[in-house]
Amino acid sequence: MNLHEYQAKDILASFGVRIQRGKVAQTPSEASQLAQVLQQETGTDWFVVKAQIHAGGRGKGGGVKLAKGLDKVEEVADSIIGMDLITPQTPPEGKPVHQVLIAEDVYYPGDEEPDEFYVSVLLNRATGRNMIMYSTEGGVDIETVAEETPHLIFNEEIDPAVGLMPFQARRVAFNLGLSGAAFKDMTRFITSLYNAYVKSDASLFEINPVLKTSDSKILAVDAKVTLDENALFRHKDYEALRDLREENPVEVEAKAVGLNYVALDGNVGCMVNGAGLAMATMDLIKQAGGSPANFLDVGGTADAARVETAFRLILKDPNVKAILVNIFGGIVRCDRVAQGIVDAYKNMGDAIQVPIIVRLQGTNADIAKELIDNSGLEVHSAVLFQEAADKVQEVLR
Ligand code: GDP
Ligand code: MN
Repeated sequence: MNLHEYQAKDILASFGVRIQRGKVAQTPSEASQLAQVLQQETGTDWFVVKAQIHAGGRGKGGGVKLAKGLDKVEEVADSIIGMDLITPQTPPEGKPVHQVLIAEDVYYPGDEEPDEFYVSVLLNRATGRNMIMYSTEGGVDIETVAEETPHLIFNEEIDPAVGLMPFQARRVAFNLGLSGAAFKDMTRFITSLYNAYVKSDASLFEINPVLKTSDSKILAVDAKVTLDENALFRHKDYEALRDLREENPVEVEAKAVGLNYVALDGNVGCMVNGAGLAMATMDLIKQAGGSPANFLDVGGTADAARVETAFRLILKDPNVKAILVNIFGGIVRCDRVAQGIVDAYKNMGDAIQVPIIVRLQGTNADIAKELIDNSGLEVHSAVLFQEAADKVQEVLR
């Protein structure tokens, strides 16, 4: 689950990680009011107004702007709220900005080359260990750094049995070229950041930039946090951080009705029982020259109501040109599933405008095939995997 910058910073702060302080606003006038409060709390006169969307690169797209004075905040916020922000990480049409973060300007005025670093914490899947990835080249695209100056990216891998060792935090600060108070503060920053990552069950912390202020304090200016969905049961309060406006609406709807649906960008909709078979089915579609429009595991009860719900979800995607239903009847009998499909199809009338290929295998598969073939509907039945693939190919032609 991805978070907004302001939510990510709240989590960091709750674990004692120093952040650029700020407040989130939904309207320009609220932005102005909150800036006033922020001024009282921090003494700042300059502010930075930052679009809150689930995508990076906002600075380049005009989603991060300075407001040099309290009287400028409302106008700057007005120019950002409501815009469709286009960045290298958004879809081409951009993402609508519903809210902005009003934060204290923490940069030294007139400093052309501020000390900006890159720090992330993530799981190295190859070694099965968390690692801290960091670089002296902060504030820019880390992918570019990796390509052009890979020797400026460092890794510190953490032994899960002992956790982050003090010498490791010191090594990070040393490699970042720090000394004195900044060195000390960086070791504290890294230690609290790593602790926050572990305790919040995150799968990614990316802080770019980490800033060294003119008075040698280290703080997080930006924060990208991805939480591990499977650990959310341990953090009931984090569930409220989910912003449904940022998620695929069909996925949100599927979740609400208890279906396991993941949107993809292909043209063949899939309805399958079991995650393993669903993945195999997606491979099959690829082999047949199509590409899957979604992953959908309908689970064990493929009755008419559930099949209909699944059909309706799949058909919300305008790219779907055909639907492949692939059900293995182990506990659930194929003829019951077939009847469910026929009933759902009849019930939906004109809602189905694309061909449907149904492969039912397992208990009573032969009766199921007969049921479908005799239904008089535009449903193609198949028994073998390859047959289903061939039929997909045929209807896509
Ligand atoms: P991103 O572009 O989505 O990664 O958003 P960031 O939060 O990283 O902000 C983009 C850039 O804006 C940063 O790299 C900074 O250079 C700049 N920026 C962020 N906060 C401030 C601030 O308080 N003052 C100034 N002068 N620049 C800032
Ligand atoms: Mn950033």
